[in-house]
Amino acid sequence: MGRRLHRVTGSRRGPPLPEKICAACGRPFTWRKKWEECWERVRFCSDRCRGHGTKRRATTR
Ligand SMILES: [Zn+2]
Repeated sequence: MGRRLHRVTGSRRGPPLPEKICAACGRPFTWRKKWEECWERVRFCSDRCRGHGTKRRATTR
């Protein structure tokens, strides 16, 4: 049995955390505690990227 287990690179301790690719900067980011309830909806690694993601013009009058 020479089967290799896929391991998440990083800390050896604890359960492996899920990762996603940021839709704004294209970098992988790791699960965070603050996203535990909305991880499925998270698409950006940070609030900054979230701001970049929404290409919405601020209507200034
Ligand atoms: Zn990002």
